Amino acid sequence: MMMYKINVDRLPELYAKMAESRALYLPIEKNDQVEFHPWNADACVRLDKLNTAKSAKDLFFPQTENLMKFKMQGKNISIEENRDPVEPFVLFGVRACDVRSFDVLDKVFLADPVDTFYQSRRENGVVISMACHEPEETCFCHAFGIDAADPAGDISCWMVEGTLYWKPLTEKGQALTETVSALMEQAGDQDQAKVEESQKALHAVMEKLPLYDLDLTGFDGDHLLEKFNSEKWAKLSEACLGCGSCTFVCPTCQCYDIRDYDNGHGVQRYRCWDSCMYSDFTMMAHGTPRKTQLEKFRQRFMHKLVYFPSNNDGMYSCVGCGRCLTKCPISMNIVKVIKALGGENHA
Ligand code: SF4
Ligand code: SF4
Repeated sequence: MMMYKINVDRLPELYAKMAESRALYLPIEKNDQVEFHPWNADACVRLDKLNTAKSAKDLFFPQTENLMKFKMQGKNISIEENRDPVEPFVLFGVRACDVRSFDVLDKVFLADPVDTFYQSRRENGVVISMACHEPEETCFCHAFGIDAADPAGDISCWMVEGTLYWKPLTEKGQALTETVSALMEQAGDQDQAKVEESQKALHAVMEKLPLYDLDLTGFDGDHLLEKFNSEKWAKLSEACLGCGSCTFVCPTCQCYDIRDYDNGHGVQRYRCWDSCMYSDFTMMAHGTPRKTQLEKFRQRFMHKLVYFPSNNDGMYSCVGCGRCLTKCPISMNIVKVIKALGGENHA
């Protein structure tokens, strides 16, 4: 498909055009924090800060959402479907790693039985990705075969010397492009060469990052019992607070709880994110199957690095976004687990 370009000064026009027909979400700074928020003309858009504090997964899998309502009249109970409405939207400025996280979530929510709440958001959302400008020292997407300079999505974008280059990749991306193409120019061979140069430059930066060559040897979907029974989990997990911060910022964590709230006129059933790190996670009448923090901690990393790839053709459920590396209050993270249990230490 054809590539387009637009000067960075005209981006507000591009945003306004897209926002005419649907909600537009971008990395927007509020209170010194950059997150994906709905765009308006006064928004402080930060396309230079693609590493948002939380990932964009809320747009497809919100932190809380209504499922249904139960109404009681005397002895009769009726069920009312009151799911939150889903409108068409555009998600602009998603890094390559975060785009991959949607593939991971698809494996979970679009597998039989399909999660229709997630499915309707996926169908209504157009993902516009953006090549990274300034990867951070905590980034390690390359370990999972992700190219930060060549992001997937419905439309890929690159920002080079004050020009945004825009390339539709899917039919959905092409359809959106047709609604805004009048604002853009078609890119030519020289433009293509500029984008390729910028990709090469980014690769050179990425290669110097400390975690670029993170070694995943030993995390090949096999060695399950060997990893599970490793004595190293005790040391790795001993300081874990079970706060769940790592799961809440993670773009691929997908566990949720279903709860009922009685408002006096009926019962609202909703779901909300949960964390395998919490003490009451999967609590049942007889208790919880994982009683110690070691077991909870081990579950999170075994799932991302061993169980998920062995059930999903080798796809890891970590994309190397680095968020958990900066948010954990005890500085524990998946990189430390990989280094302790894999690579040269693979027993
Ligand atoms: S485990 Fe950490 S680095 Fe991996 S995707 Fe989740 S937050 Fe990102
Ligand atoms: S953020 Fe750190 S302390 Fe909190 S649950 Fe995750 S590993 Fe444990």
